[in-house]
Amino acid sequence: MPLIHAYGTPSATTPLGPLDIERREPGAHDVKIAIRWCGVCHSDLHTVRNEWRNTLYPSVPGHEIVGEVVAVGNAVTRFRLGETVGVGCMVDSCQHCATCAAGEEQYCENGFTGTYNGRGQVNTWGGYSEHIVVREKFVLHIHHKPELLAAVAPLLCAGITTYSPLRHWHAGPGQKVGIVGLGGLGHMGVKIAHALGAHTVLFTTSPDKIADGKRFGADEVVISKDLAQMTQHKRSFDFILDTVAAAHDLDAYLNLLGHDGTLCLLGAPPTPHPAMSSSLLVGSRRQIAGSLIGGIRETQEMLDFCAERDIVCDIEKIAMADINTAYERMLKRDVKYRFVIDMATLNQTAKAA
Ligand code: NAP
Ligand code: ZN
Repeated sequence: MPLIHAYGTPSATTPLGPLDIERREPGAHDVKIAIRWCGVCHSDLHTVRNEWRNTLYPSVPGHEIVGEVVAVGNAVTRFRLGETVGVGCMVDSCQHCATCAAGEEQYCENGFTGTYNGRGQVNTWGGYSEHIVVREKFVLHIHHKPELLAAVAPLLCAGITTYSPLRHWHAGPGQKVGIVGLGGLGHMGVKIAHALGAHTVLFTTSPDKIADGKRFGADEVVISKDLAQMTQHKRSFDFILDTVAAAHDLDAYLNLLGHDGTLCLLGAPPTPHPAMSSSLLVGSRRQIAGSLIGGIRETQEMLDFCAERDIVCDIEKIAMADINTAYERMLKRDVKYRFVIDMATLNQTAKAA
């Protein structure tokens, strides 16, 4: 298999740097994509630092990929050379279990194949690389204007991960929806909940993000550390989407749900949340739920929904060599609101190394 340039790490404690990886040549059903832009998800950081204790090394993250089709297998029918396409968090699944049949490959009963960190003993390498080869079924069409493509990349994870639960729990007119955390996922949660017509309330720990939250479509912004502000919203929410990347007190949000309300967790912190109070659930038939990215069909639906409304992410473009600094800024909540790597800068680092 040919070697290509990538950026990754051989261990949890080594900063990311240039390395070479093998990529298969496209088979009959594969699309080969030259990667132009790759978003930086907090899951990339959790993975390269082995915070979920399942990382296969060397690790090359990146699952918010926008690029150009440069080769197609002879059975590929839905993509042509030169087309702009996207790849998100999955590159394959079993295709025969009940959830795959229902178009929810992210819940594949046999385990989907992640764009990076594969499954079991088989590693896969993600979008911090020159190109990727992906089964046609897992490649997405992009209909946004060409000048928006860098800001489209994070829709492939941050966009679908918030769109899917907002649709599943029927966010829309007449509903009061909370979004917790204004990072990559959270800012897309605010934009999408607003676009769906819900009364949208942002919860943030960062007072300097209030104006941005409102600009993204929040009707109200609550500083979650301020008990008086939190108490004003007691028992009033239909749905709260929690995107926080660290363990925190869930009771503070359960208290804000109305009867039959749902708190949906998206964050995957390395340590468990403190135990919640069951009386807060029992007393009002409230629910705690979770949600994982979204299926391929729904990801295409989300991309088209956003393209029709010119919805994209608010991004800061970075060069590949800036990735370690970007991770440190992410840990300080200093992301406005997604880093996106200009993959043209990868070859500069490869040559310098
Ligand atoms: P991010 O850009 O770093 O945003 C996380 C936000 O959480 C921060 O900006 C901050 O917002 C808030 N926060 C509050 N307390 C925090 C703390 N102690 N440490 C860090 N953040 C804190 O992360 P992301 O890319 O949106 O991802 C968020 C989480 O979702 C991660 O755990 C990620 O792995 C997970 N994730 C899950 C899925 C899924 O399918 N369920 C998909 C992708 C990512 P404020 O400043 O507004 O408080
Ligand atoms: Zn992600």
